[in-house]
Amino acid sequence: GLRDDAPSTIFDKIIAREIPSDVVYEDDVCLAFKDINPVAPAHIILIPKHRDRLTQLQFATDDHVFVLGHLMAKVGHIAKLAGLDSYRLVVNDGAQACQSVFHLHLHIIGGRDLSWPPG
Ligand code: 5GP
Repeated sequence: GLRDDAPSTIFDKIIAREIPSDVVYEDDVCLAFKDINPVAPAHIILIPKHRDRLTQLQFATDDHVFVLGHLMAKVGHIAKLAGLDSYRLVVNDGAQACQSVFHLHLHIIGGRDLSWPPG
């Protein structure tokens, strides 16, 4: 089922406008805002808004297919709003992968040359 029991995070406060953020895109399902500590000239965080939120992608179920599809479907539009035609999508999924906020989020990173493979 949906993980409505997940503890809230700072991203819920951003959704609720309890703390300010630089919003790039918003609709009923998702919110995209600029990362407060960018790793590139463009660094946008894209999150699901609702209480069916996922803490980590590895906990996704079939119940989350709509919201996951919605996030992926909006990435290109959000990147275009940010003036990007090349970018990297990152999900840090779990503490050892440097996930620090346990509300599923996609990093949209661009605006400079990005090396591959990453560190
Ligand atoms: P993670 O390491 O969990 O994948 O990424 C969390 C991201 O959220 C980090 O890049 C961090 O800079 C960003 N972040 C954390 N707190 C805030 C905040 O209050 N506002 C904004 N705009 N970004 C935040």
